[in-house]
Amino acid sequence: MTVDYAALLQTIAAEVATLAPEGAVAEYIPALARVVPDQFGMAVATVDGVVHRAGTADVPFSIQSISKLFALALALRREGEALWRRVGREPSGTPFNSLVLLERERGIPRNPFVNAGALVVTDVLCRRFLQPERAVLEFVHGLLGRSGVGIDAEVARSERRHSDRNAAIAHFMRSFGNLHGEVGAVLDAYCAHCAIAMSCAELAEAALFLAADGCQPGGTRILEAADVRRLNALMLTCGAYDAAGDFAFRIGLPTKTGVGGGILAIVPGRMSICAWSPRLDANGNSIAAAAALERFAAMAGVSIFG
Ligand code: GLN
Repeated sequence: MTVDYAALLQTIAAEVATLAPEGAVAEYIPALARVVPDQFGMAVATVDGVVHRAGTADVPFSIQSISKLFALALALRREGEALWRRVGREPSGTPFNSLVLLERERGIPRNPFVNAGALVVTDVLCRRFLQPERAVLEFVHGLLGRSGVGIDAEVARSERRHSDRNAAIAHFMRSFGNLHGEVGAVLDAYCAHCAIAMSCAELAEAALFLAADGCQPGGTRILEAADVRRLNALMLTCGAYDAAGDFAFRIGLPTKTGVGGGILAIVPGRMSICAWSPRLDANGNSIAAAAALERFAAMAGVSIFG
């Protein structure tokens, strides 16, 4: 089936505009609460490097937990297999910022996409780089083949000032020996890489290696194909937290969500897609972006389940 992706995106943007405005923007990070809620953007980047756009696809937003994907890819490049001794690969069945499993599981986070797992990944980056958040940012610049993406310092400061819960998670893991650096330094780096601001078009482009066996367009190898298969598996099973099962059911693609309202989705071998709209459901996932991805996957026939 040949699909006119540009036309499909316009159709979806028009449909999403008719949805009732449900959900609310994230408020636990005060700087995020100031975002205009009723915005919608979407972009599709195909593995040959062509990008299609609709709505506010070029407006940067706070990528938040989508940064966990870039942090993980970078940590894997440096740490390799050893990383999996400190982080699991199972869905947690709990909210992204939950502490409940950590005591029973002796400070080993369920997966790298819940906050606990991403804090361990960030701890690895703190050991490997003098300026870990800059390393994540430069990794993103490398993926895009250009600089220009930045960290929103106000969002980073705002989250850092309200990071009691993530601090509790980090201290708890440290008490089990699964956080090696100083909690404050890990939180600084974590809040900073979560505050990277990117547009849908930039995110779709930057994530193309996940759709192309580990290479960006032009052929630069970012990760081995085997690692990319594993990342996609983790996105499918854990990328939307306690809604991962529902996302697999509705969308049928590996996804990673963030409380800034972005959702990145990968169609292995074909494309990466990013949708953004700030209003979130109770799991912290964007309602309109999920609806848009559900429509796109159905209309373009790209679910990994056929
Ligand atoms: N920085 C956010 C936090 O730690 C990321 C959460 C998210 O996007 N789900 O709470």
